[in-house]
Amino acid sequence: MADQNRSRTPDRPPRTAPVQQGRQSRRAADPADAHLEHARDGKLKLNRPQRGLIDETEARQLSEDRERLQRQGIGGPLDGRMLSNPAAAATGPDANRPQVRPQAEGWTQQTTEDGRPLLQFKQPRVAQPKTHLADLTLAERQERVKALGLPGFRAKQLSTHYFVHHTSDPERMTDLPAAQRETLVAEMFPPLLTEVRRLTTDNGDTVKFLWRLFDGALVESVLMRYPGRVTLCVSSQAGCGMNCPFCATGQNGLTRNMSTAEIVEQVVRANQVIAEGGLGGLRRDGGHDAERVTNIVFMGMGEPLANYKRVIASVRRMVDPAPEGLGMSARHITVSTVGLVPAINRLADEGIPVTFALSLHAPDDELRDELIPVNSRWKADEAIDAAYNYFVKTGRRVSIEYALIKDMNDHAWRADLLAKKLNARGRGWVHVNPIPLNPTPGSIWTSSEPDVTQEFIDRLNDAGIPTTLRDTRGKEIDGACGQLAAEGDEEADGSVTPPDAGRSGTSASIDLRG
Ligand code: SF4
Repeated sequence: MADQNRSRTPDRPPRTAPVQQGRQSRRAADPADAHLEHARDGKLKLNRPQRGLIDETEARQLSEDRERLQRQGIGGPLDGRMLSNPAAAATGPDANRPQVRPQAEGWTQQTTEDGRPLLQFKQPRVAQPKTHLADLTLAERQERVKALGLPGFRAKQLSTHYFVHHTSDPERMTDLPAAQRETLVAEMFPPLLTEVRRLTTDNGDTVKFLWRLFDGALVESVLMRYPGRVTLCVSSQAGCGMNCPFCATGQNGLTRNMSTAEIVEQVVRANQVIAEGGLGGLRRDGGHDAERVTNIVFMGMGEPLANYKRVIASVRRMVDPAPEGLGMSARHITVSTVGLVPAINRLADEGIPVTFALSLHAPDDELRDELIPVNSRWKADEAIDAAYNYFVKTGRRVSIEYALIKDMNDHAWRADLLAKKLNARGRGWVHVNPIPLNPTPGSIWTSSEPDVTQEFIDRLNDAGIPTTLRDTRGKEIDGACGQLAAEGDEEADGSVTPPDAGRSGTSASIDLRG
């Protein structure tokens, strides 16, 4: 899921949460210290919390959780392994707070033989789309045009049509010889995305697209107008192999990586829609200037860093000046990940100053192992270290995305632990974006209480970590990426569908990617 402002990601503008009055001092005991100790070199070291030790309060909470889940008909009994909660026995905001554990609702996670959630890093061997102009550098386009028997400068003309005028319509390419236009377009612009559905909010400032790829796979993009910018949330994979228990996209695993051009085409098509007046909402310029997508967030379907090469090539296409590419600012492009550590380090060395966002959602491995299955491969501390390395290498402050889920990850001790872990690496390198979920009665994937949310934010801010609660966009049209595609294309007739169509109210509609 993209950010140029000191404390804002571009797709989700900050919402100032109400200040809680009369908050009591809470610094007397610091249960998170149980996890940390100072090593000889003065660095903070993380101890793994003890498992299996529970007190009476926790045991009662576990029992209540189990009964509640069983009443809701989701999952079997818990296995008795407890998530450590060092604050559970203390008085304070976490006293009597239950610990809800992540669990897929309404579907079953694929698992390995030893019962762990299955992770897919490699795409299956499937057909790939034909090579498109946007897959190629300008030099490669020139070679290709020459191979078609035309002078190389035609590549520049074609590129200008695509990246500047956002068209691949031969009728509009009047500077090309009429006799060769059709051939050129057929060779350089194979069809990539067919629009299947388009959902629009009432005021028109958010548009969600469902696209069909050449092989029938479905992906989504969401276009959002904010004051002073237009953001597009793009997909990078059809399906996803990361198997997060809250995510519609991951339910059926990874279909395939999207090509560079398929990723870029989402931007070009969005620009077409904007040019046609398809994005409503108030324009800051009063509607006089040509508009286009200004910000990109890789927070749609798929794990961008699992499709590393093509995602990076697409970012280069976005930032390369026209007619090589779209001429966007790298700072306005946010690459988000659930924590593929080697790829984060590689990204830090690319020399493209994109904004980087780590979807952390839990600072402790016990919870994160279940919430974000890839945590079994790279632990929370390794992911935070890689995020810090990104800051060191690029000078770009990174975002930690943290969806607040009631009684699952919103405990005050987790805010403290997160603050400690971030501050242990340094100051001023990170900001945290807690993301509110929608209230979803009956689901474990529901929003935190307002006072709990405020406490979480206050603790981070008090610890010196800039923290801003996000507003979320597109929920009325299933803003959670993967939801439309998960529904399939039963209603796929290309018509405009009412904005609130298709809400499932289950975990399938939860988007924790920030
Ligand atoms: S949340 Fe992101 S990484 Fe996890 S399964 Fe969904 S798309 Fe993949």
